[in-house]
Amino acid sequence: MSIEKPFQFLDVPRESPVKIEVPIRLLDFKEIYQDYEADHAASQAARCLDCGNPYCEWKCPVHNQIPNWLKLIEQGRLFEAAELSHMTNSLPEICGRICPHDRLCEGDCTLNDGYGAVTIGSIEKYITDEAFKAGWRPDLSDVVPTGKRVAIIGAGPAGLACADILVRNGVGARVFDRYDQIGGLLTYGIPPFKLEKQVVMKRRQVLEEMGVEFVLNTEIGRDRSFSELLEGYDAVFIGIGTYRSIRGDFPGEQLPGVNEALPYLVENVKAVMADRPPDTSMAGQRVVVLGGGDTAQDCNRTAIRQAAESVTCVYRRDELNMPGSRREVHHAREEGVEFIFNRQPMEIIGSDKVEAVRVAETRLGEPDASGRQTPEIVPGSESIIPADQVLIAFGFQPDPPDWLAEHEIELHPNQRIRVNDNGGPAFQTSHPKVFAGGDIVRGADLVVTAVFEGREAAKGILDYLDE
Ligand code: FAD
Ligand code: SF4
Repeated sequence: MSIEKPFQFLDVPRESPVKIEVPIRLLDFKEIYQDYEADHAASQAARCLDCGNPYCEWKCPVHNQIPNWLKLIEQGRLFEAAELSHMTNSLPEICGRICPHDRLCEGDCTLNDGYGAVTIGSIEKYITDEAFKAGWRPDLSDVVPTGKRVAIIGAGPAGLACADILVRNGVGARVFDRYDQIGGLLTYGIPPFKLEKQVVMKRRQVLEEMGVEFVLNTEIGRDRSFSELLEGYDAVFIGIGTYRSIRGDFPGEQLPGVNEALPYLVENVKAVMADRPPDTSMAGQRVVVLGGGDTAQDCNRTAIRQAAESVTCVYRRDELNMPGSRREVHHAREEGVEFIFNRQPMEIIGSDKVEAVRVAETRLGEPDASGRQTPEIVPGSESIIPADQVLIAFGFQPDPPDWLAEHEIELHPNQRIRVNDNGGPAFQTSHPKVFAGGDIVRGADLVVTAVFEGREAAKGILDYLDE
């Protein structure tokens, strides 16, 4: 709560940083929000009621101390806010940008009912962006080296968060990744209009300054064996993500013009990074995107920026039941994407390439095991949506490498790695020396949950190394 004005939220409305106008933002792939100025961040932070029971903190998967760092920003104490923010989150500038705040911290802000939630995500981003610019760095001056070393497989959010906690506790962290850049899906997945790639590069620089080592272009199981890591390090963390695309299994999926979401998005990111045209462009095409999650929104908004003639997003449930961030759906709509809800794709039609998608109307039936209502097809309700290109964005499943089974690392029936089964340290697998976290453990989810699991697994590793 503001010290000067306890009910600042009555006078100061919720204001996000300035958003670039649609016609301008469609010209490139840059982030669409500008930065807060210090006084703007302070006045927005001062809207926090300090309600005494910070639901926002509970809802945040890493349990950020939100009201406390909001107060520091209100008082202009940027470096202290950065220090506090890093006590609970290893990638705060990234989560501040791409968390689905509307269904996490901001969704549970007391002011969300009627006054507009505090702009928690934007202020979290502001804190670390500005602190880095002003020269702040995590302070590791008190850290005493233990002489222990941990190998981390995967430089995605889970692996990076694990490395962050380990080096802060004097344990050497060497991170292996098959790609040429760190970040996992932060770099090769999430489009630059949500997260510019220099943000990830800055974080790499900071982690390297902290002592984290990266060994890139190195796939474990191909370029180096898993056994080598098991023998050469005191523990191993696995954060390899989930990369098997879920297919629709309807006729016509093999037709030219049907694209999987992730390769399409990754090729576009690479083209943007290299400042060249993408191999697959949607320019001048009628694009139909199948799916309703964040990946579908990223496909929609990428295709629009590639100057598609039209982009139609087809989802089998209703808008309320979309799994992704509402904010991203709003942005997609602003940018010209058309949404068709309650439609189940039945077939992709075409003789030698895609010509249309045949869909059937759905209504929502009984909740399934996960509690979500199952879409049921309305008989006789089929229709045709013309299309030149189709993007399939149905999500991802784990694709565990063979070396897991070879080392008796147990999996769930749905191929996720099993952890926490033996009453041992947090996130330990069935192999005592091996820990795991992120999407490969919980299934495709969020950056912030991968960060949480990477941090908790690192604490588990520290307990194991202490035994
Ligand atoms: P990943 O990020 O997948 O990283 C795994 C890393 O392991 C990769 O770099 C991979 O190269 C490496 N690897 C795999 N196998 C090996 C091996 N054998 N040897 C060496 N390296 C290996 N979440 C949000 O919170 N907000 C969003 O807006 C959002 N948008 C998304 C958009 C898209 C298109 C996608 C696909 C996902 C999105 N997500 C979003 C989800 C989020 O990106 C993931 O939940 C998160 O990245 C998972 O982190 P991770 O570290 O578990 O795995
Ligand atoms: Fe909100 Fe995500 Fe930041 Fe937590 S990490 S405060 S959920 S934006």
